[in-house]
Amino acid sequence: MDVAAMAARFTELLGAEGVITDPVRLRTYECDGLTYHRATPGIVVLPGDAGQVAAIVRECAAAGVPYVARGSGTGLSGGALPRTDGVLIVTSRMRRILEIDIANERAVVEPGVINLDVSRAVRPHGYYYAPDPSSQQICSIGGNVAENSGGAHCLKYGFTAHHVLACEVVTPDGEIVTLDDGPGYDLLGTFIGAEGTLGITTKITVRLTRLPETVQTLLAAFDSMEAGGAAVSAIIGAGVVPAAIEMMDALSIEAAEASVQCGYPPGAGAVLIVELDGPAAEVEEQFEEVERLCREAGSFEIRIAADDTARALIWTGRKSAFAAVGRISPAYIVQDGVIPRTALPQVLARIDELSRGSGVRVANVFHAGDGNLHPLVLFDDGEPGAGERAEAVSGQILDLCIEHGGSITGEHGVGVDKSRHMTRMFTDVDLDTMQMVRCAFDPAGLCNPGKVFPTPRLCGEVPGVRKGVHPLVASGQAEQF
Ligand SMILES: Cc1cc2nc3c(=O)[nH]c(=O)nc-3n(C[C@H](O)[C@H](O)[C@H](O)COP(=O)(O)OP(=O)(O)OC[C@H]3O[C@@H](n4cnc5c(N)ncnc54)[C@H](O)[C@@H]3O)c2cc1C
Repeated sequence: MDVAAMAARFTELLGAEGVITDPVRLRTYECDGLTYHRATPGIVVLPGDAGQVAAIVRECAAAGVPYVARGSGTGLSGGALPRTDGVLIVTSRMRRILEIDIANERAVVEPGVINLDVSRAVRPHGYYYAPDPSSQQICSIGGNVAENSGGAHCLKYGFTAHHVLACEVVTPDGEIVTLDDGPGYDLLGTFIGAEGTLGITTKITVRLTRLPETVQTLLAAFDSMEAGGAAVSAIIGAGVVPAAIEMMDALSIEAAEASVQCGYPPGAGAVLIVELDGPAAEVEEQFEEVERLCREAGSFEIRIAADDTARALIWTGRKSAFAAVGRISPAYIVQDGVIPRTALPQVLARIDELSRGSGVRVANVFHAGDGNLHPLVLFDDGEPGAGERAEAVSGQILDLCIEHGGSITGEHGVGVDKSRHMTRMFTDVDLDTMQMVRCAFDPAGLCNPGKVFPTPRLCGEVPGVRKGVHPLVASGQAEQF
């Protein structure tokens, strides 16, 4: 890439304040939440609207320069990891809430809008935006769309994909199109969760959800994870669908206490946070049942939030857990695997064995209701070989998830972190089929290359490209990209 020429062109398009080439400032953008992988971007650009994004993408396409979109950079799989030979397109200046349409229960926002700001804006109307990643105070809606992000309350309300009605997208050839849920192939569904590999979203129409009549939250403490897991199965088995069921183990409780002093019951081997919301009469009846089921599963202390302040305190420990682990370990990998809920006790016991066997500490925080594990694999990055050992344990945990019929990611995406694990879940034909979809959007392979897939893409002049592996290609019924 001719940095000087590209920067000059971008300065014409965006003004000097929209272009960063200073090496010190560029370093701000060298990683996302997965700090283990770093690369200093060639140029950073800060467009202010969709037209500018399209112009940047057209420049990159003409020059054959790769580019990566970035929202707030909180991603945990390295999706926004920049390219040293490329352009990083940061959406932080695209933060306008363009429309609030209460009659149709929707809002239109720019991609850099912070998740929680949507709820703040519509709360006076009695609404909120349901998907609530724990990073919601800082992550962007554009990043949420790319990762199909979840959160504690997605057990009842569904993921980002269930709350996005349309996306305006700049395609890799620089065209601005709108994807919605109209007739024909579900291109909106294809785009959501594609981790920024199919284009850049510049406007998002989100569904608004009515605030529930009432919310009730409890914290139940158990001696062991097994007992907590049994309570989860009992609650779901009883037909109760809580808004959230979250679980933390002793190590993550220790970290949260050290960081935010959330005052969880001392000596707990596990805590469960259960939240119910909805019509008052229904919540009241189900809440009593949940309390009873927790006691029957062995909870030695149950705290019920009396008001919003007490509720916030219960959630503080959970929502700060990832960052809090920094208090008890210099470095850590946040893993994100999925298992069937019923496999929780076996998988947690195996993770414990792996941890003991390797000497690598693992803290567990997870969305217990939907079997989405977040093992935090701790290591000292100053110790030679410690990072590799942590990576190895991390990979073994993902293998466990697959063995139990689960998945290598629930909500954080594949990014660079887990692309090598894709072959454990998918066959060559599966992967090539996915790559054909990707190439249909981005035949030149410039849009967030190197993410998601373990192999070079079929399209473009990629060294080592595998040819003819897809049966349609091999049989001559489809063209090689
Ligand atoms: C403390 C903490 C807690 C977290 N908790 C959760 C959680 O509960 N649930 C959850 O799902 N995730 C969670 N995450 C992960 C992360 O916050 C989410 O993945 C979030 O959606 C990323 O948003 P972002 O704006 O930071 O995106 P970035 O990290 O900037 O980017 C993420 C991906 O989106 C792409 N992208 C960004 N903007 C666009 C755009 N406009 N168009 C196309 N592609 C784009 C990037 O290329 C990249 O691939 C957590 C992270 C942290 C640090």
